[in-house]
Amino acid sequence: MVGLGVPADQPAYINAVARLETRLSAEALLDALQAIEARHGRVRSGERWGPRTLDLDLLLYGDARIDTPRLRVPHPGIAERNFVLYPLAEIAPELEIPGLGTVRERLTQCPSAELERLAEQKQI
Ligand code: AMP
Repeated sequence: MVGLGVPADQPAYINAVARLETRLSAEALLDALQAIEARHGRVRSGERWGPRTLDLDLLLYGDARIDTPRLRVPHPGIAERNFVLYPLAEIAPELEIPGLGTVRERLTQCPSAELERLAEQKQI
């Protein structure tokens, strides 16, 4: 999926959602995600919503609810950001977002405005 103009002064960007199994704790998984961001040249400038090379968020961690200074799960934007919900619905429409209903239910409240689905890439 490509989200256009969210926020309005940013160039278009590509969003994707992945499901994975891990033995890492949620905090250790966040460490691993941030290490990958750093390897891709991400510098944390303090500008929260600015353009970045790569932004990896932990959307859900099983059915856990986590609220620490460093980590909030489910991710606070999960239920209203169309560029999160639409790709997530492609892999897990019936997934329960703790405290918020299923992905499919949330999707009905969330217009797909300004999202554009990328064409499937052919396997080489
Ligand atoms: P971001 O600018 O989106 O990379 O987020 C900045 C900060 O959000 C990170 O340094 C994390 O400590 C914090 N954060 C809180 N909850 C989450 C989450 N579920 N996934 C990723 N980062 C999170």
